[in-house]
Amino acid sequence: MKINSFDIDGVIYMGKYDGLYPNKNDIIITGRSFEEEEETIRMLKRKGINNKVYFNPLPFDKKTRKSSGEHKAKVLSSLIEDGMDIGIHFEDDYIQGCVIEKSVPQINVVLVNHNLVEKENVRHNG
Ligand SMILES: [Mg+2]
Repeated sequence: MKINSFDIDGVIYMGKYDGLYPNKNDIIITGRSFEEEEETIRMLKRKGINNKVYFNPLPFDKKTRKSSGEHKAKVLSSLIEDGMDIGIHFEDDYIQGCVIEKSVPQINVVLVNHNLVEKENVRHNG
């Protein structure tokens, strides 16, 4: 079964707007740090989203757009290696999209293009 992968900030989370929703078996790969897990799961649950989330292993103040892209690429390629059939990764950050396309060419990166949320590190308390 083909599934898709979703970024959180700028894809699922769009600030005061409502973002995209993953399907039942889809996965979420976020640049958000493991340190942000609690507030992130709370926000997702409020939206009724219970999909598996892969957090960034880097601490919040150490992550960059490039290293977030590398984290997503690493997760995607290891899941593909494990036999997961992932078709699309939805992403809003061009820099991260390029990193993913370069290192996991079998993934189709679909860029969600807008300026509704910040692309740099922002901590969310929602
Ligand atoms: Mg994003």
